[in-house]
Amino acid sequence: MRIDISPIKKTIGQSMEYEDTRDVNFKELKLDGPMGLKLKLTNLGTRFAVSGAIYGSVKLICNRCAEEYIWGFNIPVNEEFFDIHEKKSYITEGEDPDSQNFFFYENDIIDFKEMIRQNILSSIPIKTICSENCNGIVLECAEDDKLSKDDILKEHITDRKIKK
Ligand SMILES: [Zn+2]
Repeated sequence: MRIDISPIKKTIGQSMEYEDTRDVNFKELKLDGPMGLKLKLTNLGTRFAVSGAIYGSVKLICNRCAEEYIWGFNIPVNEEFFDIHEKKSYITEGEDPDSQNFFFYENDIIDFKEMIRQNILSSIPIKTICSENCNGIVLECAEDDKLSKDDILKEHITDRKIKK
């Protein structure tokens, strides 16, 4: 998930492509299988623009039924990376990099991991629902009641059979 940007570093306007598919581990995200990146990097002089898409699947917990389900994502990405050695200059300009969601590269290497993590986290729906037809916990309980009613009925039948 890292790329050496030195080939495009000297010329403003130059760009390069980055494509990768691999397993990634995040603390707060359970990825289901490998995830992919298809990105274009462009030298904007003072910074590098990164645009494209990240895609894959994450295991989420349904808000309705509390069951785990797979949420597929294909998230458009549009970010900018600044040289970490110039981080100070942004702070003196009154722009706080931490609050403005800037990303930084160091020694000509862009590491996409943090960018990926933030993009996935901000794309996850606030209400996670496994399916539009999800009946939720309450209806599942009703389902269980029906089953037990059937069981009771069976018992009655058995009772009658025994009585005969
Ligand atoms: Zn559900």
